[in-house]
Amino acid sequence: MPEVRPGTSESGSPRSGALRTGGAETGLLDQFGRVATDMRLSLTDKCNLRCQYCMPEAGLDWLKKDKLLTAAEIVRLVGIGVERLGVRELRLTGGEPLVRADLVEIIAALRQNHPSLPISLTTNGVGLAKKAQALADAGLSRLNVSMDTLHHDAFLQLTRRPFLDQVLAGIEAASAAGLAPIKINAVLLRGINDGHAAELLQWSLDRGYELRFIEQMPLDADHGWTREGMITAAEIRTLLSGTFELAPDPRSRDGAPAERFEVRHRGSDALLGTVGIIASVTEPFCADCRRTRITAEGKVMSCLFSRTEVDLLALLRAGASTEDDDAVASRWQDAMWAKPRAHGMGHPGLGDADFVQPDRSMSAIGG
Ligand code: SAM
Ligand code: SF4
Repeated sequence: MPEVRPGTSESGSPRSGALRTGGAETGLLDQFGRVATDMRLSLTDKCNLRCQYCMPEAGLDWLKKDKLLTAAEIVRLVGIGVERLGVRELRLTGGEPLVRADLVEIIAALRQNHPSLPISLTTNGVGLAKKAQALADAGLSRLNVSMDTLHHDAFLQLTRRPFLDQVLAGIEAASAAGLAPIKINAVLLRGINDGHAAELLQWSLDRGYELRFIEQMPLDADHGWTREGMITAAEIRTLLSGTFELAPDPRSRDGAPAERFEVRHRGSDALLGTVGIIASVTEPFCADCRRTRITAEGKVMSCLFSRTEVDLLALLRAGASTEDDDAVASRWQDAMWAKPRAHGMGHPGLGDADFVQPDRSMSAIGG
């Protein structure tokens, strides 16, 4: 049963003059009672890879520079999120965030304003070797590196670029810079790298990295995803079970998208580490979702699969007074209030028939 939002009428429309920026208590509340505290901010739509499950081979029409959030706008928006709307953690993503020349300065400014905010980065690792130490020095808390295989030929086929060695060097540099714990994100595609799952897990365990498999979602610009073609979480567990025994991690999931498993070699009691599986399609976790997403051009997406977007950039550019910040916060709240109950795939009572793939690809949303 949807709730009546504080500061709104029962229809959900804003009561005139109502103070709706209630900080952490009301924050980014939606009509189903969820409160978003985890902000995902895309720094750019550009990328130097062309992963099959995300970007088309020819790339996309990149946004013009004046359409992107500037560093100052990013810092202001995060400030509004943290100080007025109860945001408690920030993930910087893209596109590929490392292609943004001012990334280190952005992180340093965010860290200066928010000394204890967890700030993490999701990157494909290309060019990371050169920047890892500067990112750590600027105050980055931790890092996820996306790497789907350790095989050069499969990496080339998946990403359409020959940069696996750069990614491996980037991960090593991040580790040397103390950006722990490092998480590795992997998407499996049938016939390309599904046979590499156990090897990638062993490699991650040997180095103390936490590997997370992400089910392929229908967010590719080519619209090539099919339910029959995707590798499900159940199949991933089976692929690993030839080598490993997985047992549910007794620690609380606490709203995290990944379901964590303890990993042991078959027939051994020795705990080797953990692996995460993010089953967004077949075992969705929408009821527990705490995420709010801002695209590189300053639009709120209340869900990865949103088909509606709410622009904050024009309001940010309209002025920088306290009242302007109030207006930005209020519009952000409105956008989140309308967050759908679920994305429409795999939910009991909500068949795939309700699901329509959004126009944006994952790279243009910010994963
Ligand atoms: N370029 C950076 C990277 O690849 O890590 C950050 C942006 S990328 C969109 C964020 C994450 O989304 C990556 O881990 C990537 O593997 C994942 N991703 C992209 N498209 C996906 C899809 N269709 N299904 C599942 N995960 C996807
Ligand atoms: Fe680029 Fe990341 Fe998308 Fe791959 S998943 S094309 S690295 S944005």
